[in-house]
Amino acid sequence: MAKGRESKPHIGIFGRRNNGKSSLINALAQQDIAIVSGIPGTTTDPVRKSMEIFGIGPAIIVDTAGMDDSGELGQKRVDRSLAALKTVDLAILVVTDNLFEDEEKKIIEAFEKQEVPFIIIHNKSDQVPLDIRLKERLNKDYGVDVLEFCAIEPSNLEDVIDSLKRAMPETAWVADSLLGGIVKKDDVVVLVTPIDNEAPEGRLILPQVQAIRDIIDNDAVALVLKETELKGIINILRPRPKLVITDSQMFRKVDALVPREVQLTGFSIMLARHKGDFDVYLKGTPMIDELKDGDRVLMLESCTHQVACDDIGRYKIPMWIRDYTRRKVEFDVVAGLNELPRPITDYSLIIQCGACMITRKQLAGRIRPAIDAGVPVTNYGMAIAWLHGIYQRAIEPFMVLKRDNVTNGK
Ligand code: SF4
Repeated sequence: MAKGRESKPHIGIFGRRNNGKSSLINALAQQDIAIVSGIPGTTTDPVRKSMEIFGIGPAIIVDTAGMDDSGELGQKRVDRSLAALKTVDLAILVVTDNLFEDEEKKIIEAFEKQEVPFIIIHNKSDQVPLDIRLKERLNKDYGVDVLEFCAIEPSNLEDVIDSLKRAMPETAWVADSLLGGIVKKDDVVVLVTPIDNEAPEGRLILPQVQAIRDIIDNDAVALVLKETELKGIINILRPRPKLVITDSQMFRKVDALVPREVQLTGFSIMLARHKGDFDVYLKGTPMIDELKDGDRVLMLESCTHQVACDDIGRYKIPMWIRDYTRRKVEFDVVAGLNELPRPITDYSLIIQCGACMITRKQLAGRIRPAIDAGVPVTNYGMAIAWLHGIYQRAIEPFMVLKRDNVTNGK
């Protein structure tokens, strides 16, 4: 079984304005990290805070604006709070004054739609205690913990933390290994990282760092070099390296240098298998061949990082696709979690970046509308490998793993 590594659970706090959501965060952190005020609407946009919760450990808390906000601006805040739901592993619905009406039901419907487990906290119970009939009704209707709480003087914080731990899905704690099952103890993995004008000065990019960490976690050996050193090393390394992982832009050159008996893939494909919907990408990638004149392709970048991905998404992949298909294809690029400029159904193909900066849950929420609408989805590395004619080779390490998992009934 692939080794795992620790991951920080993302916990979202939802509810009406002035329900004490920020006070609850301070109570969980046992320090004042969120701005608390009696004025409704103090939290305007979802705010992510990295904190240590006693009994849980490091976690990311997502503090959201009140879900009962009104007006044009208020609705935007509500939409952003709902969008934040796509990024959390567990939600807390905060209620007060025994108020459980359509507003709360709608929030729970949103939790259920996104398949986010949740608990309910009746806050400010020092002022108005939780009505036992409401508690029983909610227990019966939703089958979740409903706890009485006073964030200002939290006497039962341990109960809340126990409830959070019970409701937290296992996947929130452990991230699967990037290369587990592919590399094993003492294997050598060569990482080809171009150091050119596009590379960030003085550091490696995140997928490269994540790969190194994962190789070490799997008790294997990481050898990091530029493409200019690859030929010399490959010729002298004995036994041969188990795997070469390259920046996707170097695919063609690296493919020519790496002997057939050595496995080859790209950092972006490694991420596609790890946190993307690999099966969806496998179906989506060949759809590049179906693109027609006037079709529109959406390039999705999961951060506003202005380094190499920027160039790949805006210039290189569009150029390669036009050259390969000989079609007049249009491209839209959307960075971060910004809204799309058009309905998803206007696109013939979605090409998602490696998504190194976001969680699997966030990525799933981002590509789900396309999957639901039947729009093909692929990823940067898989698309580049397809366009450069080395797709089968580049996905093969993960296909072997898929076949092994089927054989072993996983
Ligand atoms: S999240 Fe996407 S765009 Fe941002 S650095 Fe990672 S791969 Fe590039």
